[in-house]
Amino acid sequence: MSASQLPHATILGYPRIGRRRELKRAVEAYWKGSISETELETAAKDLRAATRARLVELGLSASSGAVPESFSFYDQVLDATLALGAIPSRFGQVEGSDLTKYFALARGNADHQPLEMTKWFDTNYHYSVPEIDERTPFVANPTALVSLVAEAREQGIETRPVLVGPVTYLLHAKPSDDAAEDFAPIDRLDDVVAAYAELLSALTAAGAGWVQLDEPALVSDSLSVPRKQTIELVERAYAKLGGSSDRPQILLTTPYGDSSQSLARLGALPVEAVHADLVRGSLPETAIADGSLAQAFADTQLLAGVVDGRNIWRTDLRAALAQAESLQNAGIATVIGTSNNLQHVPHDVNDESKLDARLKSWLAFADQKVEQVATLARGLEGGAAAIESELAEVDRVLADRQSAPGVRVGAIRGRVAAASDADRTRVSEGERRDAQRGLNIPQLATTTIGSFPQTAEIRKARSAFGKGEIDEVAYEGFLREEIERVIRLQEEIGLDVLVHGEAERNDMVQYFAELLDGFAVTENGWVQSYGSRATRPSILWGDVSRPAPMTVRWSSYAQSITDRPVKGMLTGPVTILAWSFVRDDQPLGDTASQVALALRDEIDDLVEAGIGIVQVDEPALRELLPLDADRQSAYLDWSVAAFRLATGGAAPEVQIHTHLCYSEFGQIIDAVDGLDADVTSIEAARSRMDVVVPLGEHGYSRGIGPGVYDIHSPRVPSVEEQTELIRIAADNIKGELLWVNPDCGLKTRGYKETVASLTNLVQAAKAVRASV
Ligand code: GLN
Ligand code: ZN
Repeated sequence: MSASQLPHATILGYPRIGRRRELKRAVEAYWKGSISETELETAAKDLRAATRARLVELGLSASSGAVPESFSFYDQVLDATLALGAIPSRFGQVEGSDLTKYFALARGNADHQPLEMTKWFDTNYHYSVPEIDERTPFVANPTALVSLVAEAREQGIETRPVLVGPVTYLLHAKPSDDAAEDFAPIDRLDDVVAAYAELLSALTAAGAGWVQLDEPALVSDSLSVPRKQTIELVERAYAKLGGSSDRPQILLTTPYGDSSQSLARLGALPVEAVHADLVRGSLPETAIADGSLAQAFADTQLLAGVVDGRNIWRTDLRAALAQAESLQNAGIATVIGTSNNLQHVPHDVNDESKLDARLKSWLAFADQKVEQVATLARGLEGGAAAIESELAEVDRVLADRQSAPGVRVGAIRGRVAAASDADRTRVSEGERRDAQRGLNIPQLATTTIGSFPQTAEIRKARSAFGKGEIDEVAYEGFLREEIERVIRLQEEIGLDVLVHGEAERNDMVQYFAELLDGFAVTENGWVQSYGSRATRPSILWGDVSRPAPMTVRWSSYAQSITDRPVKGMLTGPVTILAWSFVRDDQPLGDTASQVALALRDEIDDLVEAGIGIVQVDEPALRELLPLDADRQSAYLDWSVAAFRLATGGAAPEVQIHTHLCYSEFGQIIDAVDGLDADVTSIEAARSRMDVVVPLGEHGYSRGIGPGVYDIHSPRVPSVEEQTELIRIAADNIKGELLWVNPDCGLKTRGYKETVASLTNLVQAAKAVRASV
């Protein structure tokens, strides 16, 4: 083991998709068969080399593990699954190279469904869920990791491989279908740790001086074990891992939340460095004051995650330096770093040519964050005086952000302040149900979640309009034809409540961000969402208002050409916040209220234009739920209040729907009830209606549409299959409350399977209707 210290500046990880999404293009070309595996490997290798060189150029040291090795072809949890050899037995023997196996698990193949994907902590990133049982083999396969170390060395860089740690890995796995009822993946901790020990030993042999093990499970109250048990599991695992002499030095990280309660215990582990997220989390003030933190960290470096890796604002360098100095002054060997892996922010502000220059000066993407880390490290070494000009520059920027036009608009603030509980409250559910009888909605009404397939023609027309190749009249004409097509199709299929299809939307948040004041959108600000998919979160920088109606012309046109009810379709305030980069200078709840008022006006205009049903999607409601149990009720209060402020102005005869994507909402069922929506659609097909039993037990008395058609794959569910799911739902939920719909929107599907599946869905609903 080489005993060099971690240099004064590092980051937990860097975006891996490439500045121009090079990885996406290479991986998708490989999937299509247009490039070979060797060509894909070469593209990936080039990208990794460019990343390392860039990080050194931005100020990280080339030596002693300051540069993290956070590349992934698809997902870091899947990387760990492969490195542990933990291929679920249902996949049998997958023939071919490691990469063939990797993508078979990620995407499925002819014979196998892929691993399930789910959200990573409270981010919008999705990981591939490991499937573990009593017999899952754990056979270390260090090939990929080891080759990264050699590759970096050729470039003259002593890199630091990054791996999801053993406890976090197992706490994010699910039991495989073969597992016994009472089995939990974490039961295999000792076996997994043994495989990690082999990986570490191989890394040492390859010459790695440092390795990073991410254990964000330590900051979460949303996992299957309570937090005080997680720290014990970590202690058990790292006593083993750290106890071995055949290993690189270990950096243990705790991104996404507050580890202050366990920080002293982590410092006492046999590892060489521990990270704390000081943006989401805090410093343990008493342990600093009484010297116990310094004692725990006597032989351990503390990586102070003071630069926000979840957001795109320039760091308040003075405040960040003060935090790091308070640790250093307490006698703790302190390193400057980011709060988390920068995979959640785009590459480089300087790739934006269209952003307003003033706004741009307030921003920091990944590259700028790395520079800030390097600057702060110089400040920590040489004192504030060493970085005085950088500090002064940030002071100027922060003051400019405070006072710039649009950041604080009196009229908007006045309206938010004046909003009362009455504005958030509709008449009782019963009265509304009576008032809505005029909509003539049958029992087991069939509908969809909003979007229809986004075809190549739609994308082409949108891009031509964006580039000015076709004018607004032509584009509008195209969209109207598209709407008419989708309406006729739904009529033919026999759906009861129709949608306009959302062809005008590039993205369910960006579309609104482009039309609201207070938002900006980027050209190249891509952030990986899962696998080869990336999104461009909008930037919510100022007070939000709605200069003009946003969806009325599409919805009212759709309604004008059919006798069946058309649902208006809006994205809710929480989801708009969750999928944007949001200003950090005021509570999220205040920002949410502003968005809510803009949506409230939109609902008024929709109703005015003859729309009787409006859906306000909140798929991110569960995602933003704080990891920290102490913060959850405050979050649910403001998020529910924002939804109610958006919808509370709707007259009793207007039916408000919402859509939540998730099936696991046991934890927030009261909040869902609190939304006071008339109808809620949720995902349920993949779990075979697991949610309907708890809903029945809860006495849930509102309309509910548990999805009966899994839209995540092109598979067409048969009439029988959907009938069975509807029957399960009907056994638990009263017919007048039950809706029949797919799990989610259809935008990623093709028309062929969509039409077949929806036709079956309508048949299935009819079959069950006839028998209840
Ligand atoms: N209305 C949106 C759609 O159908 C909802 C998408 C979502 O829940 N993510 O696409
Ligand atoms: Zn959904």
